[in-house]
Amino acid sequence: MTHQTLLDAYARLTVKTGLNIQSGQQLLITAPLDAVPLVRRVTEHAYRAGASLVTTIYADDETTLARYLHAPEEAFDAAPDWLFNGMAEAFKGGAARLAIAGENPALLAGQDQGRLSRANKARSKAYRPALELITGFTINWCVIAAATPAWAKSVFPDLPAEEALDRLWQAIFACTKADQPDPIAVWEAHNADLRRRTDFLNGRRYRALKYTGPGVDLMLGLAEDHFWKGGGGMALNGVFCNANIPTEEVFTAPHKDMVDGIVCSSKPLSHQGSLIDGIRVRFERGRIVEMSAEKGEEAFRSLISTDEGAARLGEVALVPHSSPISKSGIIFNNTLFDENAASHIAVGQSYTENIRDGSKRSKEELAALGANASLVHVDWMIGSGELDVDGILADGKSEALMRKGEWAI
Ligand code: ZN
Ligand code: ZN
Repeated sequence: MTHQTLLDAYARLTVKTGLNIQSGQQLLITAPLDAVPLVRRVTEHAYRAGASLVTTIYADDETTLARYLHAPEEAFDAAPDWLFNGMAEAFKGGAARLAIAGENPALLAGQDQGRLSRANKARSKAYRPALELITGFTINWCVIAAATPAWAKSVFPDLPAEEALDRLWQAIFACTKADQPDPIAVWEAHNADLRRRTDFLNGRRYRALKYTGPGVDLMLGLAEDHFWKGGGGMALNGVFCNANIPTEEVFTAPHKDMVDGIVCSSKPLSHQGSLIDGIRVRFERGRIVEMSAEKGEEAFRSLISTDEGAARLGEVALVPHSSPISKSGIIFNNTLFDENAASHIAVGQSYTENIRDGSKRSKEELAALGANASLVHVDWMIGSGELDVDGILADGKSEALMRKGEWAI
């Protein structure tokens, strides 16, 4: 298949299976400038599916960097509230949301950490009204990725630019299953598989998960009334969507006060332009009380100091070590892909959908059940071919869930 054919299949999969755009619905896209060819394909498929208006907001790495190089010191607490409020307005009016990732993962490496954390905090705060409508699944939404020259170079530093870009596109098409003869049917079967896992886990009502592996000894309590999700799901507007393409995870809400022990990252984390690697943390009653990282320690420290909830967990996800993304052997330096290569945890905000009837409960009720609240939500990978996971039942008995990184159920 030619690149154009694959790009078109990927765009169609995004519109049909990812977003499931409805007739008369608006669509808001954010994308890197280098993703224009993909955005054009997506836009065409969205209109063909009946979208009433497609609006794209482009970002450009060079202009993002220019701020750090040339803006006055006092400028780093600014954020475009008006833009995010407008996005929230669009979602309240029923617009669907597509985020296309593809930025240079190391764009802001080496920039002043204080400025970065001020800028990130201001942005997170301003973005909150829009983000809550997304994480609460008020609307149908989807995140995908586009290969860009800078991202491709970070993934394949030794290849010539054109070849690196081509390899990254191939990997994206393979991991998203867009290169299969009938991607939409393949995704239906994939969703059914994930559904079997979540049905099993929801039936067991585990009180906690116990992780054991090299450098890992962690007891991770689950929120009361936690609910496992995976694959596609129904948004509150009644539209079935797949929020992540690809996705291989089943995930739920940890208890924000009941995580104890030690865990290490198994893959690098790319966060807001910094690469963080070799993370090791110790939890006490849900909170990170000790941390170190071999690379990007300051960036990780600043992330978990964003607010009280940023040092606690908001998500726990199980992914088999044999997932297609893991099998590709590629470290993508991009969470959308890397989180689907390995079991992971996320510091920060939890998803209301991971609590039974979460959308009907108040913030206070959710917190009382153990759900976490924060301005941030950042996944990092802890899974490997050496990790064992046990489910701990209400009576304290344990059952093997994963052995050497693979499902044992
Ligand atoms: Zn996840
Ligand atoms: Zn997450």
